[in-house]
Amino acid sequence: MGRPDVTPVICNHQVLHEPEAVLAAALEAYVAIDSTDRVVGWNAAAEATFGHSHAEACGREITALIIPERFRDQHRAGLRRVAAGGPGRVLGQRLQLNALHRDGHEFPIEMTLTATDTPGGPVFHAFAHDVTTAVRAGRFSAVETAVSRGLAEAESSGAAAARVVEALGVKMGWPVAELWLVDVDRQLLLCAARHAEPGRRLGAFAIDELDYGMGLPGRVHGERRPLWIPDLAADTGSVRSRAAAAIGLHVAVGVPIWAGSTILGALCVYGDRAEDPEDTLTGLLSGVAAHVGQYLERRRAEELAVELARTKDEFLALVTHELRNPLTAITATAAMVSEETGTLTPQELGRYLDTITRNAQRLTVMAEDLLDLARLESGHLAIHPTAVDLAGIIDTAVQAVARPVADKNLTVTVTVPPRLPLHADPDRLRQVADNLLSNAIKYTPAGGTITVTAGTRTDDDGVDRITWSVADSGIGIPPADRPRLFRRFYRASSALDRRIPGTGLGLVITRAIVERHQGTIALADQPGPGTTFTIELPVKPPA
Ligand code: ADP
Repeated sequence: MGRPDVTPVICNHQVLHEPEAVLAAALEAYVAIDSTDRVVGWNAAAEATFGHSHAEACGREITALIIPERFRDQHRAGLRRVAAGGPGRVLGQRLQLNALHRDGHEFPIEMTLTATDTPGGPVFHAFAHDVTTAVRAGRFSAVETAVSRGLAEAESSGAAAARVVEALGVKMGWPVAELWLVDVDRQLLLCAARHAEPGRRLGAFAIDELDYGMGLPGRVHGERRPLWIPDLAADTGSVRSRAAAAIGLHVAVGVPIWAGSTILGALCVYGDRAEDPEDTLTGLLSGVAAHVGQYLERRRAEELAVELARTKDEFLALVTHELRNPLTAITATAAMVSEETGTLTPQELGRYLDTITRNAQRLTVMAEDLLDLARLESGHLAIHPTAVDLAGIIDTAVQAVARPVADKNLTVTVTVPPRLPLHADPDRLRQVADNLLSNAIKYTPAGGTITVTAGTRTDDDGVDRITWSVADSGIGIPPADRPRLFRRFYRASSALDRRIPGTGLGLVITRAIVERHQGTIALADQPGPGTTFTIELPVKPPA
């Protein structure tokens, strides 16, 4: 390994008489080793870079000191080859490789390796510096590019979500990456896409639905901020963290996906170890989540435009069908009354007038619902809360439907305490009660039962809540229709198949009223016939 014609370095030995001082002051880590792999040179920058002091490093085998275990054999073989006079593939090259710090973490370095001959054999000189920041920036920008491209090219929200988690998984090396989205209708989080590295079996970890507050996605959604779980095994309170730990995952990071001030979901990654500091990583993920949020918002706007066109068609169909039917009944009955005025018995006249009144009421309800819908869409569905008693409201509403209940021979059971005080808008609560009761009557065949229950309880957060449910033994709602039930004009196939009249507006308005009271309404997931709607209302709505 001769080194002929070495170009001189020092021009003035009087000024630069101590080359070692130069190495000592260098900002590059300087590491020299002999042909047996022992450290013979180690400057202050090497101490700072690799964590070992000069005293600790000198004389140690470099391979065991700073080379990650999986590369050690390869490194030793290379060194033997060069020491035996073989070609040094790494000599004179600028290399990027992974080094091991004294504290056990791996990090990328850029290094150049040269050799000089000494009487004792060749000595190898390495100049190196930590390139974590540059490598990370490259990795982050690769992820951002892949995400932007994925979102631009995706043909559907599902495909977009898949591209995002793939970019995080592949480019960042996270074994598992997930994108969760809120399902407003069902009040839970759905896994829109999951990327798992090949060969990693997910077992119980691979679930696709999470209740609010559950798992990392549910917690990110609930707390509305990025969350970091440094040790999944120690997070014993969470079933999902335990499932993650069971498949060898150690850390997890999740960030919310925002659209304005609304959280659309959460982006979560799970890994064996965190290579980047918490702030840096949540920064990257939040940037990606912002892209996703903007994409979803854009998509939503497009879907709304399509829905608006569809709504217009549906509205026309509704007007022609649902308004024309009662109008025809009123006009025809009124015409009959006027033609037969002289010959009608009082009972016949009473029946005709009843028909007219019933159909006129149907039109009034529909007109009010449409007005409420318009108010809802323009954000003007006002509520005027005051101290009210829900028990009284339920009672009056049940009494008001005594006639249709008797006509259909239905049994109504009301289990409500004598008083249920809360702070709410009495007229709007009555509207909710009327809506749920009239649906229960309308969609329950003769002879069926309707059960109304309500009561107060204090939830885990110490908030007093009223739970109020209306259950019936009627035609039920097929599972396929349930997710869309609270959309305007939506009618379940069970109602359409039986040609039961309706507009699909009542539940939309009911839900809006309940939500304006900071409450929730849900359709119970019950097997078998019948339907149960459950409303939860805070006794005192939060300020
Ligand atoms: P409408 O009853 O006027 O169609 P709603 O918005 O009140 O409108 O209800 C929407 C749909 O939900 C109904 O068309 C019906 O398919 C279904 N639905 C609501 N309540 C019940 C119930 N108690 N039993 C069965 N289906 C119901």
